[in-house]
Amino acid sequence: MRKIMLAAAAAFSATGACAQPTAQPLAATGPKLLIVISVDQFSADLWDEYRPQFSGGFARLATGTVFHNGYQSHATTETCPGHSTILTGARPGRTGIVANGWFDPKANRSDKNVYCAEDERAPGSNSANYTVSSAHLRVPTLGELLKRSSSASLNVAVAGKDRAAVMMSGHVADQRWYWDQNQFSTDLRGALPRSVAAVNLATAQAIAKGLPALDPPLFCAAKAQTYKLAPPPGRTVGAGRLERAPGDADTFRASPQLDASVLALSAALIRELGLGSDAAPDVLSISLSATDYVGHAFGPGGQEMCLQLLSLDRDLGDFLKQLDRWGLDYAVALTADHGGLDVPERLHAKGIRDAAWVDPALTASVLGPKVAATTGLKGPIISIRFCKAPNASAPSRRWWPLTGRTRRSMPCSLGKTSRRHPCPRAQSSIGR
Ligand SMILES: [Zn+2]
Repeated sequence: MRKIMLAAAAAFSATGACAQPTAQPLAATGPKLLIVISVDQFSADLWDEYRPQFSGGFARLATGTVFHNGYQSHATTETCPGHSTILTGARPGRTGIVANGWFDPKANRSDKNVYCAEDERAPGSNSANYTVSSAHLRVPTLGELLKRSSSASLNVAVAGKDRAAVMMSGHVADQRWYWDQNQFSTDLRGALPRSVAAVNLATAQAIAKGLPALDPPLFCAAKAQTYKLAPPPGRTVGAGRLERAPGDADTFRASPQLDASVLALSAALIRELGLGSDAAPDVLSISLSATDYVGHAFGPGGQEMCLQLLSLDRDLGDFLKQLDRWGLDYAVALTADHGGLDVPERLHAKGIRDAAWVDPALTASVLGPKVAATTGLKGPIISIRFCKAPNASAPSRRWWPLTGRTRRSMPCSLGKTSRRHPCPRAQSSIGR
């Protein structure tokens, strides 16, 4: 097995939409399968903090090549732009993915909010119920370039978010699966792999069973300091143990179980599709999203994130061991799409006194009508929706505005089913 770890995707030099790859003989000594793993919101800070605690997959990858000075050079550090850079080698200005979503007054529909992984030209597609597509990605991915050089090469992606799977695999993919809040789905046509049905069934059973509170090791327990967040209804975070009620599909993704399912499907597809089993090199892109959901719900500095990362370390280790048992010749690149800020309350305790929640006056609910009045535009100038606390008569105007299906569904849906953690909200504009 070859193993490498990259903190940045600079090693992959896909050169853009206009560049035509030269058909070169593939190196006989190259790996048969390249696995590129993106851990959503896994910042360099978290990596450094937890590195001594890792004993599973992360510890194993840490023995490879680590680029400590890797960083994102683009401004909008969100999930979609970040994932669009990883396997294209291009910045968002060239990938065309400049944000998770944007406002396009020229869009040929009343809803001018466009999702990054959407084809707004598709009949019926809108920002609340979009048609998943790679239409906005302007450059090819590494998997696409490989397929141009070798038609036998396979380009496969599995992710917790549709935009991550789309941006890592691109326009020509053999399989692309992502968690759609209820099951793994795809925007591609073709026969359904047996693996997908099996993992969907196993995941449904896991959701139905629920998740008991995880037992924190001492390192995590030391982080169990609670903080009451200022925005109403004043949630308390910091000492959670990621438990989940039976049947709660919404909070499933803010738990290590989502990543475990993504890795299970990845392994199953490797086996079923025969990835890495012939001379033509294949690419498997994996995006693990639970770290991001945990970070948004609880902040990255508490016991919750500790439990998430140590669980992922273990699951990733099991995943790699399975590939070894199958005798695969593979290489792994590990990276992240962006980092995330902690909650202001915890930052205050660390001496960062100027940390603050976003000013409600700067939110879309306030700015949207002003933009509409200034421009004369009608319709949802800036799509917003505030989370509504359980039993509350109206959404709080102090809460972060959420645009697009994913932003809407993640925090609010979590709030619907968890009274102890009602309606988590984004802690910062970084990420998602
Ligand atoms: Zn992200």
